Amino acid sequence: MVRVRRETVVGILVTSLPLLAAAAVASLFFPGSGERLVTLYMINVIAVLGIGIYAGNSGIVSFGHVGFMAIGAYASGLLTLNPIIQKTALPHLPEWLAGIGMPFLPALAIALVVVALVAVVIGIPVARLGGSSASIATLGFLVIVHVVLVASTDFTRGSQTFFGIPRAVNLWVALPFAIAAVAVARLYRDSSAGLKLRASREDEIASTAVGVNVRLHRFFGWVLGAVLAGAAGALLAHFLGAFSPKDFYFNLTFMLLAMLILGGITTVSGAVGGAAVIMLIVELLRKLEGGVDLGFLKLPTVFGLTDIGIGVAILVVMYRLQDGLFGVRELDERFGWFKRFASKSASTSPAPAAIAAASSSGQGTLRVENLGKKFAGLVALENANFEIKPGLVTGLIGPNGAGKSTLINSVSGVVPPSTGRVLIDGQDVADLPVYAVPVAGLARTFQNIRLFKNLTVLENVTVAASALKAGGEDPAARALTVLAEVGLAEFADRLAGTLSYGAQRRLEIARALALRPRYLLLDEPAAGMNPAETEELMRVLDRIRVKYRLGLLVVEHDLKLIMRLCDVVVVLNKGQQIAIGTPAEIQANPDVIEAYIGRRRSTAQARTETATSSDFPSGAPGLHKPA
Ligand code: ADP
Ligand code: MG
Repeated sequence: MVRVRRETVVGILVTSLPLLAAAAVASLFFPGSGERLVTLYMINVIAVLGIGIYAGNSGIVSFGHVGFMAIGAYASGLLTLNPIIQKTALPHLPEWLAGIGMPFLPALAIALVVVALVAVVIGIPVARLGGSSASIATLGFLVIVHVVLVASTDFTRGSQTFFGIPRAVNLWVALPFAIAAVAVARLYRDSSAGLKLRASREDEIASTAVGVNVRLHRFFGWVLGAVLAGAAGALLAHFLGAFSPKDFYFNLTFMLLAMLILGGITTVSGAVGGAAVIMLIVELLRKLEGGVDLGFLKLPTVFGLTDIGIGVAILVVMYRLQDGLFGVRELDERFGWFKRFASKSASTSPAPAAIAAASSSGQGTLRVENLGKKFAGLVALENANFEIKPGLVTGLIGPNGAGKSTLINSVSGVVPPSTGRVLIDGQDVADLPVYAVPVAGLARTFQNIRLFKNLTVLENVTVAASALKAGGEDPAARALTVLAEVGLAEFADRLAGTLSYGAQRRLEIARALALRPRYLLLDEPAAGMNPAETEELMRVLDRIRVKYRLGLLVVEHDLKLIMRLCDVVVVLNKGQQIAIGTPAEIQANPDVIEAYIGRRRSTAQARTETATSSDFPSGAPGLHKPA
């Protein structure tokens, strides 16, 4: 079931206001040319939102969506073409397409189906790609569409003008479509699917580690965005009545991307605002382009002034505001009074009982069998063998470069192991896609914090909470419960990147906990924390371990802490598991002492040459103290 939040509805209304205002002003004060301009604005907004749904949420700039606009324009154009005009304009049209002349709306519907089909076919390979390779693939798609349109002279009149399309679109047709596009874009952005795609934009690896199927959501975003772009193309076709393939090529792509980037690529408000700003700049410069005569001052004709103007506007805005004019948050999310109004009657009563019921099935173990990992000849890990049991804390220690992080990466599937197996309650992790591992009960944190910085604290945890199919329970409500658990509830509304370091570490743990794991792997959770923060963290960990019968694996350099906290300790050195046992056994183990004393001696020597800090600083002497 899709839950529509009140915040989302308020957001849609707020973001639609400028569209309504523009339409009202144009029709009241500037009938004719003003109305035409605002109609074009509506169509541009739809196109920019189409690109934004994919590009803004996935973080992958798309050059291809204008290709979908072209497909939408030509498809609905062909279906609506006046049969008499068609006989002269497109005499070679095949029988099944000839003389259809259907009305605009059904033609639009069919055109969108065509666009969606093409988007699905193209989306399968494109969704596998990320970053600039995906962008280049979308560019290739745009070029292919253009070439095909120019080559298909029987259908499109080639590079000549395609004319005779009924002008079915005016301001009052475009306006409801634009508002619908705002609604679609905002509903998607706030939906669980949109949130997951945004998380993958912020950090692909971390999103996978909280159960996001990145490819699937890139694919969804791509197809949905394509349909919106296709609608914009069809509307444009029926607004202009005549066009040619070059109208749907680089110039339009450049202008739409400029609108998206200038306004702020990640928000719906940014698309609406950016489109307005760029259109105003274009209108102004177009007037100047042909030369100006003010009597006392004569400005010459400047070729390409509008394009230069757009370019300069982007440079100026990006120089001052990297996230665009409207930033990374929606307008309505920024102002307290909107929020208060929006959440007034929203029944977000967290269900504490729900999480307590989680992970009750504490039986079974996480078994690591002969696990090994080689990186291009370097043996980072070899023959790791141990178990993590529910309710117990397993410590993982060893000098820098011993292979601790590699072990956690291999166990969680982020880095596939070269040898050995990992069994979660008997199930081989290798049989699961990486994004399914967290849902199977194994969550983790990262040595270098990997949060979704431009998402709120609550959204960070909600991404993870929505990975589980918990019957009817609201993921955001559960996320809030987990945040309270680690003492971060009061920061729910802040962007994650603005938290203090210690709080970021706790947020990462909360995000992992929202997966209701049975096993939780923490890679240096206390690194960089002061003693008070560390103490607080340990209290939190102990509480959740007992409450949920969690099997914890903790990498930690403070040996005193490890000895105090752990039931079992695993020691790695140079990729080898050199010892496993209770803290007392580990402290008495000659191999471990050897590894550490050798380590300390070499560190002492190294200190005279470099300034790198030892990874076993003051805690190391704890080895010789009784437990
Ligand atoms: P630890 O976490 O114990 O400090 P790591 O697991 O990070 O150690 O590293 C173990 C060894 O594997 C190191 O020698 C490191 O340089 C190497 N290593 C880790 N990740 C990679 C990688 N992606 N590619 C190549 N070598 C790596
Ligand atoms: Mg490490």
